[in-house]
Amino acid sequence: MTLIIHKFGGTSVKDAERIAAVAEILTQVEHRPVVVVSAMSGVTNQLIAGARAAAEGRDTVYREIKAGLLTRHLGAVDALLTQSRERLEVGGFVEDRLHELERLYRSIAVLGEVTVRGLDAVSSFGEQLSSHILAAALRERDARAEAISATEAIVTDDTFGAARPLMAATRTRLLARVKPLVERGVIPVITGYIGATETGVTTTFGRGGSDFTAAIVAAGLDADEMWIWSDVDGILTADPNIVPQARTLPELSYSEAADLAYYGADVLHPKTVVPVVAAGIPLRLRNSFNPQHPGTLVVQAPHADRERLPAIISTNGLTLVAVGSRDDTWNLALTARALQCLSAASVDVPMFSQSFSEHMLNLVLHEQDQAHALKVLQAEFDRARIDNFTFGVKEKVATVSIVGAPGWNTKGIVSHAFAALGELGTRVIAVAQAATEHNVSFCIPEDQMADTVRFLHRDLGLGGE
Ligand code: ASP
Ligand code: MG
Repeated sequence: MTLIIHKFGGTSVKDAERIAAVAEILTQVEHRPVVVVSAMSGVTNQLIAGARAAAEGRDTVYREIKAGLLTRHLGAVDALLTQSRERLEVGGFVEDRLHELERLYRSIAVLGEVTVRGLDAVSSFGEQLSSHILAAALRERDARAEAISATEAIVTDDTFGAARPLMAATRTRLLARVKPLVERGVIPVITGYIGATETGVTTTFGRGGSDFTAAIVAAGLDADEMWIWSDVDGILTADPNIVPQARTLPELSYSEAADLAYYGADVLHPKTVVPVVAAGIPLRLRNSFNPQHPGTLVVQAPHADRERLPAIISTNGLTLVAVGSRDDTWNLALTARALQCLSAASVDVPMFSQSFSEHMLNLVLHEQDQAHALKVLQAEFDRARIDNFTFGVKEKVATVSIVGAPGWNTKGIVSHAFAALGELGTRVIAVAQAATEHNVSFCIPEDQMADTVRFLHRDLGLGGE
């Protein structure tokens, strides 16, 4: 019988209502499902914020985070589960785990710092909670389901924060721990994002890593397909919240999808592609809010006659930090140093550009990382005894990337885009362009993002008014 790995992201399990919808989808499929689930949306961010607060001795902050997580998860348990035994068991599990989290926070507070290893331990709690709640919601619907912690099934190296799976060992464990459940008609609900070293220490694959987990499970179990469920109808030509006329790209190759992911299409994590590509497993991107829609199919060799369209990818909630030197001493080594220390501190840098004439590095960061990033950079420069650098912060920026489909438009997407932005009067703060003429990214003021995306969508002939 067909085996399909289903991955549900944070928005698909963000509250009781959405978890119920997911359980509904899973009880209606006509194949054997294996589930990989993310933490409820926003939970991983909160867990990490709590760890940072603990390290800085801000006790009330981490206590409030823990209390908020308790209320939110117990709320979902209460709303979803009617049988008192399940409510007690799952509710008790939630309380135990969050008690453990508080203990971890307290030890971080005592140490006054959090290691990458500690951060992984803290970050792993979200998926532990969501997987148990979803499994119980399935049992509530008379399906047989069991929550499984990936620390039992996925073996990784000890690169905390960005672990790599050890595939042979993982496969053995998946076959021993997960396969027999599937054969008995039980739906395994596996935690995304996390794994454990051979000696059992919790690791994570890095932010957004649940897709990668699903791909590892798909490859390890020789699945027929892997479906990634989110809150949009697959990969679209633009964000449908901005452009209601945005169209779904029906079929893409693995490498086209990876390109889009690289530019920030958050429907797919770049690393995801690796295990499924190697195994040639088809991937489907679907909408848990609109399960009737077929979504986007991603395969090794798409049909030659499929429709090819470019896509506009926009991201807001960003901030621009310009790092430079007061004289002309800013150089590539300093850029490398800055990027390296941010990467080591798990700060995601969605885009950067380097300007030598102005002696600076423009870093586009997520708003919530700004304070932390500045602190990390400051510490790094202090350590290197570089004291003539400057920081400039420009809050509320967005990035807009246009990723072309080769052969779609011979005029070249890049010049087209520049002309359009000029016509609209969008202020371009920074540009990053691929060596190919197909892709280009702009950093622009956040309040101009929606208009810019709509304008480009129409201007590129993709529709809209
Ligand atoms: N919960 C993790 C995160 O927010 C992993 C994921 O959602 O894929 O990064
Ligand atoms: Mg997520």
